[in-house]
Amino acid sequence: MNILVTGGAGFIGSRYVRTLLAPDETPDGPGAPRVTVLDALTYAGTAANLPLGHPRLDFVHGDIRDAALVDKLTADADQVVHFAAESHVDRSIDAAAEFVLTNVVGTHTLLDAALRHGAGPFVHVSTDEVYGPLESGSADEEHPLRPTSPYSASKASADLLALSYHRTHGLDVRVTRCSNTYGPRQFPEKLVPLFVTRLLDGGRVPLYGDGSNVRSWLHVDDHCSGVDLVRTRGRAGEVYNLGGGTELSNRQLTALLLDALGAGPDRVTPVADRKGHDTRYAIDWTKARDELGYRPHRDFGAALAETVAWYRDNRAWWEPLVRSLRERPAR
Ligand code: NAD
Repeated sequence: MNILVTGGAGFIGSRYVRTLLAPDETPDGPGAPRVTVLDALTYAGTAANLPLGHPRLDFVHGDIRDAALVDKLTADADQVVHFAAESHVDRSIDAAAEFVLTNVVGTHTLLDAALRHGAGPFVHVSTDEVYGPLESGSADEEHPLRPTSPYSASKASADLLALSYHRTHGLDVRVTRCSNTYGPRQFPEKLVPLFVTRLLDGGRVPLYGDGSNVRSWLHVDDHCSGVDLVRTRGRAGEVYNLGGGTELSNRQLTALLLDALGAGPDRVTPVADRKGHDTRYAIDWTKARDELGYRPHRDFGAALAETVAWYRDNRAWWEPLVRSLRERPAR
């Protein structure tokens, strides 16, 4: 079996690829899946995230909007797991065009090719942000989509397009919607790695508004195991929320990170709130639990400490990225 993984050089996609190639998950041998990664290596992706040279991995540097390339790769693929996206909300507020082109047009290009070649399941990896903010309670898969940022609107558009290929054409599309994810190899513009790397460098961290915005935090391993359960046990045409993370305000998370790095509150700089900043996301993940046996395994405190230690021990990974950020700042 050949699995095409788009965006496999990014944060979550690369972790997923490592899982697919891990011998204890899928032992090498005639029946083991081959993995083809298609990634444009934008500012957010690096081939160094991948175990290049692994006998079951092929890496293709290319764009999901390149219809000819996507057609060729999809013809050779049995299944598709689609992570590739522009993923940073702040950048979508500054300039949304790339979000529409990659997240919507790129997804459409992949869906068309998957349909032509009968590749499925096609797992479309989406986000809890498509439901928009909730003051209380949690959104199940039937909750209306009320995205507020250009990022979440582009993801919601892609979700609907993907589901339309199931309803109209019968393509085996499955959609995952997951909470905020943290762990090693996350590009240092997102909250956790941004704050950790700034604190490690002796700098200050920018906290939006009054820091009261709430997110649910899930470790990347749990996100990836959920995606794989959807690929292997999910049903065509279904959406699965992947939640169960730890709900924290940005202020609470900042306090935990300061504590982990031995830094005081004087290292926080309050900054003007993000435009249209969603107050709180929360998802109901009962369906994935009951139907697929999904449940998060990583303890938040231990996994956050391990994540901080990873950035402390892997400066060679993030220092060039932080330098590149100075040339392309997002906030
Ligand atoms: P990321 O930004 O770290 O990685 C995205 C990858 O996609 C990069 O390797 C990039 O080079 C590649 N890419 C971008 N545009 C491309 C294009 N046109 N063609 C080919 N490759 C392209 O993102 P991530 O945090 O790993 O997120 C992966 C997926 O998970 C995204 O679809 C995102 O919406 C979703 N998601 C992320 C989170 C989170 O907290 N990070 C939470 C829920 C869902």
